[in-house]
Amino acid sequence: MQSLQPPEFVKTIISRLEAAGFEAYMVGGCVRDILMGRVPKDWDVTTSARPEEIRSIFESTVPTGERHGTVTVIIDGNQAEVTAFRSESAYTDHRRPDAVTFVSDLAEDLERRDFTINAIAMRTDGTLIDYFGGKIDLEAGIIRCVGNAGERFTEDALRMLRALRFCAELGFEIEPLTFAALKDCAPLSVHLSPERVRGELCRILLSDRPATIEKAFALGLMDNYVRPGEIVLVGLPLLPRRLEPRLCYLCINLLRSGQIKETTAFLSALRFDKRTISLVSKAAALLLEGLPDTSGAMKRALFKSGHDAVSLALQTSLDCESLSLLESVASSGDCFTLDCLAIKGDDLLSLGFRGKAVGEALLFLLEHVIDNPDDNERNILLNIIKY
Ligand code: ATP
Ligand code: MG
Repeated sequence: MQSLQPPEFVKTIISRLEAAGFEAYMVGGCVRDILMGRVPKDWDVTTSARPEEIRSIFESTVPTGERHGTVTVIIDGNQAEVTAFRSESAYTDHRRPDAVTFVSDLAEDLERRDFTINAIAMRTDGTLIDYFGGKIDLEAGIIRCVGNAGERFTEDALRMLRALRFCAELGFEIEPLTFAALKDCAPLSVHLSPERVRGELCRILLSDRPATIEKAFALGLMDNYVRPGEIVLVGLPLLPRRLEPRLCYLCINLLRSGQIKETTAFLSALRFDKRTISLVSKAAALLLEGLPDTSGAMKRALFKSGHDAVSLALQTSLDCESLSLLESVASSGDCFTLDCLAIKGDDLLSLGFRGKAVGEALLFLLEHVIDNPDDNERNILLNIIKY
């Protein structure tokens, strides 16, 4: 296994905590990533110092989650999350500990962590404190709970989705006892907040192995949001690594399998933002209707759903011919929206049209112009509508 060096600011944080008489180690995802030769996304330090002590040692800190012992320390614009050694009490809601207790022992802090590969502490010289066989599991590519898997998933049901997410991101397998417990505990996922479920769903979809999300549905981890059932998402890894096409592909497969009735309701329940909900829902509807394959059908789709949704539908379908059709229609200068129609509502008012009839006449003319682009001239359109 390759070994990367931690950056200077992390070394500085740890050495200043040590100089003040505390223990401090890198921990969690950054240790895992260093050992795998991957560049860590964020830096976590665990320390025997309490939050107020952490704050007194560093000039620039943000109290990120002090109740849970976490202070963000900023050095030269770089930041690390520094968390006091802590243990966790009972979890009555299957999502958050009822209380956290600051402890003086690193072992207790490592014991509360989810998986062995995430429960390794590292000194800045590279030595490891690895009480649960995390390095062996990392080398073998195994996701294994720290302690009793059933208890750990019962405490915090999110760990089940995290297990799948680490499989998807790292290409690991879940160890058999951990997997058996995951199957038993899957119904507890109904207690999770939609935001946390969405976070893991998105990370799985954006990983190297996005089809891992099939397992979340098959195991019932998404039963709060869909009817139980299985989906096969073979095309998912072929899509670009962007959330919208991958989410859209998931939605059309859920619609086709009957697990969801409506894209908008599914994405809203997971608290996606309005833009994503609207775009993905429109694109999924277009894909189910069948993609436009003529210039006229493309213009009608663009008028109805907008450029971004049509483009998303085509990216999701990986249909290159339709993509070039979209480009040629979009760059043709032809009219396919009411804005570019050569006559406006006022013209129709002066001709005596009133109320709903104005809109209907404009739509009629737009339909005509879509099929006859050369007719988008004021006089021609006025003549057509007069008769
Ligand atoms: P990444 O940063 O790639 O998402 P990570 O392992 O660093 O992976 P974080 O969510 O940043 O994940 O959490 C940091 C560490 O905190 C984890 O490695 C793990 O030790 C611990 N941890 C995070 N979430 C949980 C949880 N739900 N249950 C137990 N321990 C957790
Ligand atoms: Mg992390």
